[in-house]
Amino acid sequence: MVEPKYKRVILKLSGEALAGKVGFGINPLVIKEVVQEIKEIHALGVEIAIIVGGGNIWRGTTGAEMGMERAQADYMGMLATVMNSLALQDVLENEGVPTRVQTSIEMRQVAEPYIRRKAIRHLEKGRIVIFAGGTGNPYFSTDTTAALRAAEIEADVILMAKNNVDGVYSADPQKDTTAIKFTELTHLDVISKGLQVMDSTASSLSMDNDIPLVVFNLNTPGNIRRVIMGEDIGTTVRG
Ligand code: UDP
Repeated sequence: MVEPKYKRVILKLSGEALAGKVGFGINPLVIKEVVQEIKEIHALGVEIAIIVGGGNIWRGTTGAEMGMERAQADYMGMLATVMNSLALQDVLENEGVPTRVQTSIEMRQVAEPYIRRKAIRHLEKGRIVIFAGGTGNPYFSTDTTAALRAAEIEADVILMAKNNVDGVYSADPQKDTTAIKFTELTHLDVISKGLQVMDSTASSLSMDNDIPLVVFNLNTPGNIRRVIMGEDIGTTVRG
């Protein structure tokens, strides 16, 4: 049997991944499709930690544009990620996959607080750990959370699942027909060329800590498994 390429992974889902075509809110049927894919790689024995964004509910920058205090708006964004994490946990558990949610901001009635060593123990026991609440700090993103937690739990890779784009391009392929897709990049390329992969804080953290990423299209069924098995789909970004 072919072994998975990665043993411990961080899967980064944007909030949009839970919303479906409307692009807003939480759609349990859409989550179910993603969960089937996660279940498949879980069955291969891969240790999986998941980070979900909150953009399907609220983004701090949107609040700031409307005149809110940025930090306040960002805390709302962090809470949105908790809602998404609980929805994802519910669907995973309905499918028989054991999970734990850990929040960066304490809310003990809702989920465990983030404790690094405990998270690692859950992973070793075959539980999927969902890291909710981002980093717990305003002015950061869930991409940065993915890089931070990947470093902390010594993940082999961050799987950056994207909606309707199959990798990193030189320009927006929806708008520019001359855009070319990269198969391999360095974090420095991403930063210096200003490529749309993660925000610069997340890229710097990934570069400084040598964390590889694979950017791929979540909307093609089977893609998470393909990446896990080492198929060259999407774009790989390394140190
Ligand atoms: N957020 C934050 N600190 C963090 C992570 C997230 O303040 O460490 C807030 C921020 O307002 C952000 C929102 O939560 O806009 C949702 O996260 P993100 O934009 O990363 O979600 P995604 O785009 O992946 O859906």
